[in-house]
Amino acid sequence: MKKIKTIKKRTIEYANKIGFYKLSLVKKRVKMYDKLFLMKEKAMICPECSHKSLEFEGGSYEEGYGDFIACNQCDFTSDVETKFEPLVYGNDFDVLMWFAMDIERNGIKEVEHEIGCSWSEFCTKTIIEEDMS
Ligand SMILES: [Zn+2]
Repeated sequence: MKKIKTIKKRTIEYANKIGFYKLSLVKKRVKMYDKLFLMKEKAMICPECSHKSLEFEGGSYEEGYGDFIACNQCDFTSDVETKFEPLVYGNDFDVLMWFAMDIERNGIKEVEHEIGCSWSEFCTKTIIEEDMS
């Protein structure tokens, strides 16, 4: 069985990945992604069959139907109501991870030029802005 890592351990891992070590902020970030994950898990539960099997289906302009939510285990379908929104947006995209990979490839100078401030400032700002707690 996979061992569940403590929040402290995951915070340090996250900090190492992005190279930013204000750990109280990094911890906020890790907790936020835990929350997003749980929101998505919850939104996936089908009200008909109780499987974790709801998916977002994009509409088709040519065929004349809009976006909807469908279960891959039963016949349940629904409009995209508020409670299903976590299924619509890929809510686990992490801009800090994305730029951290960019730093690995192109170096921090290039990235800081692109974001227009220091990496540390950018991490601080992003974590505070995106936090939901
Ligand atoms: Zn179902």
